[in-house]
Order: sequence, then structure tokens, then C-alpha cells
Amino acid sequence: SRHFSSAAANEVDKADDVLEPSQIRNVAIIAHVDHGKTTLMDRILRECGANVPQERAMDSITLERERGITISSKYTSVYWKGMQMNVVDTPGHADFGGEVERVVGMVEGAVLVVDAGEGPLAQTKFVVAKALNLGIRPILLLNKVDRHSVTEQRCGEVESMIFDLFANLGATDSQLEFPVLYASAKGGWVSRTYTKGDEPGFDRTVAPLMDTIANHIPPPKGDLSSPFKMLISMMDHDAFMGRLVTGRINSGVVRLGDRIHGLRNVEGDASVVLEQGKVIKLMKKNGMATVLVNSAGAGDIVSIAGLAEPSIGHTIAAVDVTEALPAAAMDPPTLSMT
Ligand code: GDP
Repeated sequence: SRHFSSAAANEVDKADDVLEPSQIRNVAIIAHVDHGKTTLMDRILRECGANVPQERAMDSITLERERGITISSKYTSVYWKGMQMNVVDTPGHADFGGEVERVVGMVEGAVLVVDAGEGPLAQTKFVVAKALNLGIRPILLLNKVDRHSVTEQRCGEVESMIFDLFANLGATDSQLEFPVLYASAKGGWVSRTYTKGDEPGFDRTVAPLMDTIANHIPPPKGDLSSPFKMLISMMDHDAFMGRLVTGRINSGVVRLGDRIHGLRNVEGDASVVLEQGKVIKLMKKNGMATVLVNSAGAGDIVSIAGLAEPSIGHTIAAVDVTEALPAAAMDPPTLSMT
């Protein structure tokens, strides 16, 4: 448990938007195109998006309503049993700009959505390999189980294909103990056991997925009382606010008006300060909507306006921080499996 002296600059005001890391889950969704990622996200948003425990977020005027602004960076935040779940989209195939690493570097777990009829396809192997290497905990969701061609036996086969794939990609023992869920994203349900979802009284809900994310994926690590540091993973541009940088906060708390600077690692050298400035706007997601917040803490994903120079792979931090975060995970991938 933390304690603060009342004069400390890093004191956490519990009336603000800062969450304890234990209340946060950061999860990526990985799927081959057409395996049902969009349909699943839509169902998750429908069931969880409106249920917001954070009154501040509710009170915030959404930027869209204010003047048509959205953060295009691909993530959404939904609320489940008192937790905020940041769900990050991943490219479904190999890429050469390091996007997979950037995105997967923000999460502690991933839901691998696989069409149970088709099984795992080559294009997702690249993303899965990167995710396993970065230490994330996977959850397997076998989708389209409602289809006639998808039998319990077929699901068992796909499950062992995924196990072998993970093992071949060097998964750890704990990564190989992945939970398996059966789903019809189209039908709006997820189950822990194989079912066609057509028995009378069957509960069509994505709750088993949300519970599995809550219980199986660890909360982000991060100390709220350390100085603010964030590795920039995504970037947007807004006509009014200029550059918006998005990432998962590595440590500390960031507040509106805070003095911050951008830092960059230079090979074999100390970190270089790119620019000094102030936090002009802070934004989070509420479902699909972008909302203004006053503060955000370690482990959470936030977008910051105020600096024009720092970009993807750079660090944004409190001005007393002199060392950039390692951006090793940002190196462009060296292999392609497409
Ligand atoms: P994405 O490319 O992974 O985002 O896939 P979509 O969510 O767009 O789904 C691709 C197609 O599969 C669409 O026609 C969906 O209606 C269909 N689909 C998605 N989930 C299911 C499912 O659980 N069962 C069936 N039968 N079709 C599904």
C-alpha cells in the first residue's frame, strides 16, 4: 500500500481519474481477417461499453460531440465488474513498420480469435510469435462454433494445432496453459465449454470472455508514486490540438497542466531531450468515444496533447526524468511469415 506526504508532488488525488493498476486490464485482439474480430468487438461494446463506473468519464463531454474529434489509434475501453479493460486492435498480418511490437508492447494479454472451421492461418503466426515473445498471456477463442461444420471434435483438433503452434514458437509453460473459449460472435455469446448455443435458456452473453480476461490476464505493472513516464506507441494528428501521442503509462501519474518533456535514446549515448512543454489535453476512451480526463496513472492507456516533437518509440515523461524508456521492442521485425 502506498503512502504520500501531503506536500509530495506525486501525491495521488483519489477524486481524479487515476485507477489502481489492479483495476486495469490491457488486452490485444489478434485474428486473421474474416475470423470475426469486428463482430466480437461489436458485441463486447454492446454488453460492456455503456456500463461505466467512472463518473468523471461519463461527465466528460465527448470530444466527438464537442467538435468532431476522435483518436484514430485503434483501441477501445470497456468496463467490466469494476475494471477498465483497454482492448487494443492488432494488425492481422506481418508488417514491416514494427506496428505489431508497438501494439503488443502495450498489453499483458491477448485474445486469439480463430475461426474454428478454418483453423489457424499462416498470416496470424507472425503476430502470435511476436506476442508470445513479448511475454503476453494468450486466451484462445474458437469462433463461429454455431456453424454446422464445426463439431466438438473439430474444436479439439484446432485447439491442438494452436498448442503445437505456440510450442513451436517457443511459448513458455504458462503461455501453453491458455484458456479455451467457444464462441459465436455473430450470435453474441462466448462459452467455457463446447456448445452450439441453441439449447433452451442458453445465456447469450460475452461474460465468460470478460471474466476470463479479468482472471487470466495480469494487471499492468506500474508504480503510481514514481515519476511519470510513457513509451509512445501510437500517434495521431488533430487540427486543433496538434500531435497526440498514445501509450500505456509506464509509471507515475500524468495530469492536465503538468510540465513534461520528450526523450529519445541515442545509440551508445545518454537520452536526448527533444522538447519541453505542458500537458494541454488528456484523453481516454469510453467505449468507442474519446473523452477528456484530468489525469491518468501507471498501467492505463492515455493520449496526450502538448508536445509536437516526440513520436513513436520515444518517451514522454515528467521533466525530472532524464532517461528514456528502452524502445527495443520497437525495432522493425526481421522475418515475415506471409
Ligand atoms: P474480421 O475481419 O475478423 O473483423 O471479421 P468480421 O467480424 O467482419 O466477420 C467476418 C464474417 O464472418 C462476417 O460475415 C461475419 O458476419 C461472420 N461471422 C463473424 N462471427 C461469426 C460467427 O460467430 N458465426 C458465423 N456463422 N459467422 C460469423
